[in-house]
Amino acid sequence: MTDPLCIVAVDFWPLRIPLARPYRLSSHYGTLTHGQAVLLRVTLANGVVGWGEADPHAEFDGYTLEGVIEALKSRAPQLLGVSVADWVEQGLGLQHEGSPSAAIDVACFDALARARGVPVHALVGARQHEGIDSLWPTSNGEASDDLAVIDEYAAKGFKTYMLKMGDRPIEAEIERSKAVMAAKPGEVKIMVDANQGWSREEAQRYAEGAGDLPIVLIEQPLAADDLEGLAALCRASKLPISVDESLQSRRSVDAILRAGAGDVFSIKISKNGGLANSRAIGQAVEAAGKHILMNSMIELGVTQAASLQLGVTFKALAPCGHAYMSCLRMADDVTDFADCLVNGRAYLRDAPGLGIQVHLEKIQQYQIGDYHVG
Ligand SMILES: [Mg+2]
Repeated sequence: MTDPLCIVAVDFWPLRIPLARPYRLSSHYGTLTHGQAVLLRVTLANGVVGWGEADPHAEFDGYTLEGVIEALKSRAPQLLGVSVADWVEQGLGLQHEGSPSAAIDVACFDALARARGVPVHALVGARQHEGIDSLWPTSNGEASDDLAVIDEYAAKGFKTYMLKMGDRPIEAEIERSKAVMAAKPGEVKIMVDANQGWSREEAQRYAEGAGDLPIVLIEQPLAADDLEGLAALCRASKLPISVDESLQSRRSVDAILRAGAGDVFSIKISKNGGLANSRAIGQAVEAAGKHILMNSMIELGVTQAASLQLGVTFKALAPCGHAYMSCLRMADDVTDFADCLVNGRAYLRDAPGLGIQVHLEKIQQYQIGDYHVG
């Protein structure tokens, strides 16, 4: 008899959806105008389906959209006949990394949770939070640009803002930070993200110049592989240093912890290869007494929902907003995750699986290809 929890079909669709507004990152990354993702569906022998999503950003995880498609084309046939119970309970998601694995791993968790009628977080760990505050990012620019965004989104309930930096003189960025904090004393939390845009000397000057401001964290000030420089900065800076591009895998979390090269660890479900890998990274961070930032790429509601399901199981979330706003930054989404955000805070639905609806007709509207196995 066929195991009802065995995968009998795998379908995936690469998509391209415009952003609601262009997003100016550091000079290293330029300006983004579209989000790209691959939505993946597994179907079990009992008819239950599970959804996953890959969000390739070559600069972050080494994967292009084409690379994800090729990886999934070769891996999808190997999933036929695999039990999602075995996948989740034997940690098979730990055997691979990167965004194609994230799509497969999240789909297996979603399918098993739906089959058992439980939310995904019940398969991941013990729930610690009812909801999680979301941050809102601002583009690279001037304090006046930040303040216009902050005024708009504060009215919608957002309290934490991530200021993108990294391609202007350090003194200008220090003045920008001071001007924003002076305009909003005590009202908002600010974090900054340089996306690898600074030299060691520039990062040191920023940490000194802005060190007396109540900034929540400085993310990825230095090149991803400069753990020595990050460790020196962690020792010298009064402000916590967050690692994002440096945090690729379970191996990299160990290397960062050994080097003392991070105070906060930016977990992204797609970058970090899915729920099993991201949970293992978070557990290592918690065991080391460090903090977690649940962060996002430009991504759709499947990855955002997976991030929320995992985020509510971590005790060591950094005391600030986390990245659950990605769907609101897109002109459209293929899920209803945006409805989980209420007054700037993300709440899980009391529903099986990821707790979202995925709309196939939206996938078909934005697909730039479709692939079917099984
Ligand atoms: Mg970042």
